[in-house]
Amino acid sequence: MSEYISPETLQEQAVTELHRIEKLLSSNTDGTITPKDRMAIPQQEMPVQEPTIRAHNTQEVALGYTKEQALVEAQRCLQCKNQPCVTGCPVNVPIPQFITQVARGNFKEAVDIIKTTNLLPAICGRVCPQEKQCQGKCTVGIALKNPEKAVSIGRLERFVSDYEREHNLQTVPEVAAETGKKVAVIGSGPAGLTVAADVRRAGHTVVVFEAFHKTGGVMVYGIPEFRLPKSIVSAEIEMLKKMGVQFRENFLVGRTGTLNQLLQEQGFDAAFIGTGAGLPKFLNIPGENFIGVFSANEYLTRANLMKAYDTAHADTPLYPAKHVIIVGGGNVAMDAARTAYRLGAEQVTVIYRRTRNEMPARREEIAHAEEEGVIFRFLENPVEVLADSEGRVCGIKALSYELGEPDASGRRSPVAIPGSEHDIPCDALIVALGNESSPLLQKTTQGLAVDKKGHIIADEQGKTSLPKVWAGGDIVLGAATVILAMGEGRKAAASINAYLKQA
Ligand SMILES: Cc1cc2nc3c(=O)[nH]c(=O)nc-3n(C[C@H](O)[C@H](O)[C@H](O)COP(=O)(O)OP(=O)(O)OC[C@H]3O[C@@H](n4cnc5c(N)ncnc54)[C@H](O)[C@@H]3O)c2cc1C
Ligand code: SF4
Repeated sequence: MSEYISPETLQEQAVTELHRIEKLLSSNTDGTITPKDRMAIPQQEMPVQEPTIRAHNTQEVALGYTKEQALVEAQRCLQCKNQPCVTGCPVNVPIPQFITQVARGNFKEAVDIIKTTNLLPAICGRVCPQEKQCQGKCTVGIALKNPEKAVSIGRLERFVSDYEREHNLQTVPEVAAETGKKVAVIGSGPAGLTVAADVRRAGHTVVVFEAFHKTGGVMVYGIPEFRLPKSIVSAEIEMLKKMGVQFRENFLVGRTGTLNQLLQEQGFDAAFIGTGAGLPKFLNIPGENFIGVFSANEYLTRANLMKAYDTAHADTPLYPAKHVIIVGGGNVAMDAARTAYRLGAEQVTVIYRRTRNEMPARREEIAHAEEEGVIFRFLENPVEVLADSEGRVCGIKALSYELGEPDASGRRSPVAIPGSEHDIPCDALIVALGNESSPLLQKTTQGLAVDKKGHIIADEQGKTSLPKVWAGGDIVLGAATVILAMGEGRKAAASINAYLKQA
């Protein structure tokens, strides 16, 4: 676990470093510094709230770079000719170009460059797994033999988009002349929002249909406020409204109206399905219906979408629990565990049937959870939920495991140790085993081809088996990431725009 450094100290270090760089720049006749000097600039850490304080509030954990930190970090970029970072980004943001503008202090110009390919930079800068994407390919990280020391592209992206919003510099993207063509977008997650923006930019009428009362998909009901403030998601959605995108909330396609009705009766010329992977998986063990067992979806939806933590104002109740156990090792498990402390739990334990090495969650999320006091128990899995005489959870019966041969995922599979049953007390159990495709659209739309897992089948351009119908995001990929959903949306939107041009 890294030592906590206060935002004030980080800022002092950045100011000193910036002076040093400025001296170096002015002493060189060509006004630039060598790659070696750039590589020696210390990576700027993200200032965060102090762990013991933040575990009990819902405000954002990461505080964002200061101007000085951003200026220093931007100087670490080598401006590589072959731009490996860009190939690592699913929507190919022109990374070195935007970083050049950051280094010059042209923050608005920087964000405008990002927006040529990514309309949700304040969100992506916060939630993208950059270590696996752009930063994973960055020359600096590779040369320093430590991928974590790559140029902090995500933090810079976040800084410039926050700067733009906080200084009221946002500009509404240009929209082409009205074409009279109508496109229905089903689902308002990152895939749907990206399609809506790109199709609207081409001058088509766009209506986004969303089942919930709020738009944003997992970004509003899943990813917690302390990682992604909801005001930021709504600010990005406001921009789409200003472009003329229309939203119909509380409209469950497949029930409120079917896809065929939209296409045949309501005059839509094309449709995009971006309904995500919102169906939670369960353990299927005895006692899973006792009071106090939640899917991570329900738990997070109450906390994020319904703001149940705000007990003085919210109508949605919370189940009071002092010792919460979370089953799972992914990002959703980390979000649920960290949320549990914020909802008043005194002890939060994550149980995972493999070891830390196999955990799919991001290293940063695991570290943040640990700093906030989340306890990890490895090589264990519940086999039964235990309850008191009133049917309220009072513990779990678990088995211990050891690691066997690698399975289809390449990870060593857990093998139960016979006779290792033992009880662990708790008063709530949150099941975070992942999500599957939302099945409603597939069931209510004849001829829409799906694979064995229930994911809609779409080609390279997002086209489904039905004419006029495209799909993308988690409903096609299975539970994936925000940026991949956006990347899919971009491709589908380009294909829809091309189709409508001829139609
Ligand atoms: C707790 C949690 C944390 C995550 N953290 C991260 C992270 O840090 N970084 C990251 O990159 N990814 C993260 N993800 C994954 C990421 O959020 C998803 O990959 C992404 O949101 C998928 O986008 P999407 O547009 O395909 O679907 P979604 O965001 O799921 O949006 C689908 C929308 O469609 C609506 N809908 C569904 N069915 C219908 C219907 N029949 N009619 C109308 N509307 C419908 C839903 O209500 C929803 O609003 C996380 C996921 C979860 C659950
Ligand atoms: S790979 Fe890294 S150093 Fe090279 S241009 Fe991209 S961000 Fe800059």
